[in-house]
This record gives sequence, C-alpha cells and structure tokens, in this order.
Amino acid sequence: MTATTAIAAETRDPSNLFYQSRTRRPIVARAEGIYFWDRDGRRYIDGSSGAMVANIGHGNPRVLAAMRQQMEETTFAYRLHFENEAAETLARRIAQRLPEGLDRVFFVSGGSEAVESCLKLARQHALATGQAGRYKVISRYPSYHGATLGALAVTGYTPMTAPFAPMMQEMPKIPAPTCYLDSDSLDWKARGLRYAEMLRAEIRRQGPETVLAFIMEPVGGASTGALVAPDSYYARIREICDEYGILLILDEVMSGVGRTGRFLAAEHWNLRPDIVALSKGFAAGYAPLGAMVADRRLVEPVLDAGGFIHGHTYAGNPLACAAGLAVLEEIESRDLMGNATRMGGLLKSGLAGLMARCPFIGDVRGLGLLLAFETVTDRQTMQPLPPALNAHSRLVEIAYEKGLIIYSRRTRGGLEGDHFMVCPPMIVDEAEIAEILRLLEESLVIFAAEAGL
Ligand code: PLP
Repeated sequence: MTATTAIAAETRDPSNLFYQSRTRRPIVARAEGIYFWDRDGRRYIDGSSGAMVANIGHGNPRVLAAMRQQMEETTFAYRLHFENEAAETLARRIAQRLPEGLDRVFFVSGGSEAVESCLKLARQHALATGQAGRYKVISRYPSYHGATLGALAVTGYTPMTAPFAPMMQEMPKIPAPTCYLDSDSLDWKARGLRYAEMLRAEIRRQGPETVLAFIMEPVGGASTGALVAPDSYYARIREICDEYGILLILDEVMSGVGRTGRFLAAEHWNLRPDIVALSKGFAAGYAPLGAMVADRRLVEPVLDAGGFIHGHTYAGNPLACAAGLAVLEEIESRDLMGNATRMGGLLKSGLAGLMARCPFIGDVRGLGLLLAFETVTDRQTMQPLPPALNAHSRLVEIAYEKGLIIYSRRTRGGLEGDHFMVCPPMIVDEAEIAEILRLLEESLVIFAAEAGL
C-alpha cells in the first residue's frame, strides 16, 4: 500500500467527519435530475429533494453555467467593500414576486440564519419605534425554525430544544393547528378558528405590550409533516396580529420558492406577512443561500435609527446569488410551480390510493409537492404505531435499500407519531411519480410484513 492510499483508507474508515450520529451512508458519485448514483453505481430516486432543498433537481445546466460564469468574474466580494450585480438582481427579482412593499431583502446562507435575522429585525423595529417592552415571539408546538439558539427558542420540538434550555430564553408556544387529530364535532372551519384564537389567548396571557411577533410555517415542514390548516385559520391569524400590533413572521424556508405551487405558500390564502424567511429551494442546493424579506416600513426606521445590528460574512455572496438567480429563472421559464401543482396532485392521489390499501396509513396531506403521510395503529383513534416498531427509521431504510429516498420524523402534534415526507424535485414527471409510488408501495408491504401489521 502506498502512503497516499494508506491516508485515504485511514480518513475514510473511521471518518473524521461527524454529523448527528455514527450512521454512515455510501459516498455519492453523481447526481442528475431526480437521481443520485453512489460509487458502486447504485441509483437512488431523490424522493425528498434531500431535506426539501433540491427543488429543480440535480445537475441543472442553466444553474451550472451561471455559476461558472460568476466564478470567472468573482466568487467573493465583502459587502462593506463592494455591491455585486448578482445580489442586486436577485433581490429585485424576489421583490417583484412579492406583495407591494414587501421588498427589502437581506441575504444569508441558510434557513436558521434567515430566521435569526427575522427575529432580530422585529426586535430592532420595536426599539426604533418606541416599543422597547415588546420582545416575546410566540410560535407553535410542534414547529422547527432552525438549529441556532435564537431559532431554537421559537422552535417547538422538545428533543432538540431541551438540552439547551438553560442557554436560551424559551419563547411562548401555542398548539399547531393539528385539526385532523381532533375528535370533537366542530367542522373544519370552526376548528381552524379555534386554533387561531389560541394566539389571541396567548397574547393576552403574556400581556400584549410584551409581544413582538408571531412566527409560523404556513405549510408545516418536518416538524408536523406538511400540516395545512383550514382556510379560516390564516385570515384570523392576520386579524389577531393586526389587532395587537404584532408582526407576522412566516417561516417559508421549506414551503417557499414554489414548492407548494405558489412562490410563497402564503399566497394560497392571500396571507401577507410582515417578514418572511426563505432558504432551501432558494438556491435549490446549488449553493448555501437564504434570505429575510421584510416590509420596507419595518426596515426604514431601523436604518434611520443607526442601522440593522446583524450580519454574516457570507451575506450576499455573488456565487450563491448567481445560483439563486438561475434557479428562479429555471422555475419561471419552465413553469415549475405549475408542474409542482400538477405532479403534486398526481402524487397526492397516489398516496391516497396507498392509504386505501394500507390500513396503517392514517393521513395524507400537504400542498403541491410538499406532501406527507402518517402511520397509525388505527384510523378511528389515530393512535401512532408502537415506538418499538421504529417506523420512522425502518420504513425509510427499506425504501433506501430499494433506491428511494424519503424523509421522516417521529413527532406529531406534541404526541409521538411517525410521518414521512414525499417531496421529489419540482421537475418530476408522471413516469417518475409512478416509479416513486411503486417503490413506496413495495416498501410499505415489506414494512407491514416485518411489523406484523
Ligand atoms: N425553518 C424551517 C421551516 C426548516 O424546515 C428549516 C430546516 O429544516 C430551518 C428553518 C433551518 O434551516 P437550515 O437547516 O438551513 O438552517
């Protein structure tokens, strides 16, 4: 063995890398469209777009060309020294897609940074406008807003927050609108209103003069498994925020940039946020990119009062912004939001078909290509499968062995429960949807046999 191969072997096994656990996956060799290949030539369908990121698929020629061109010009220019064309253009194009006035764009490198920025802008707006007593940000349980300590303070997911409780100021939470779990006789609209009114009750409990903002994912991500509230919920939430002078922050890190079939998921309900967080599908995995987009009426007083006290070194990185711009052009020129609506409809009815054949699937939900299903012991009681079955990891493993990647979490409405996100890239076609459904059904059959269901 030569010195070089010895080093290679040593660094590969055991690896110097670590993430959440010791689990190791094959090394990726290539990716194109909705597919990955590992070094042994095995093919995998990216049925979850990674973590709902690779929205336009892999190896997109337009994005790669735009990035190459940007690399020839400059890959980094610090924002205190230069503006860059890619960041300027992308900010303008994003603003054009959003409601009038929601047009001040602050670039970051990911979802947690975007959420942190939203929280800090809200607070600085309160300071700049004589509302220093407002600092509490109400959020929902369960929810996920990011891994940094500020974003964790508004995250409603105890396994991730509890270890850090002494290091952060835990913010008040209200239940996420898990109406499908409610067994009372209220209709869907009334249930939506009941969950929205929980915000009013919490604001009163906290003291309205102390409450700064409410943050929520309009369509839930991995914390709830693509949870969509009744229509009545969204309008009432906006009314309550306005009534108490509270800012509405939408975390569209996962749902934004087209995945639900609209640029912002909030557009499905004409819901206008004061501030919105974007990432994931924004540069669709081609580069780390996120953004906070805020109403100019919030930003101007902060800048007038001396400036926004916040920022990251990589903000507005030209290479990341060039990727983001090309992703947006790809989404617009190929009508990928229309495709997300059409293919999402097809996939959702396919999942509903699986539910009809698998009694342990209790719910199928979501919008566009932000879709999930949930496993239960019985649909009447909606009790989850026994934890010992480890459904969330076992079913994912079986599907992975078959070459289908899906995404799962063990959490549901504050209770135990397993859900699975099936969210392929927005370029997916009918034949690929059929293949995803076939592999998923085969995996469910194996899982059911193993689990004795
Ligand atoms: N907000 C939501 C809704 C998310 O789904 C995520 C990531 O999953 C984040 C924020 C954090 O984003 P990141 O992992 O890029 O920091």
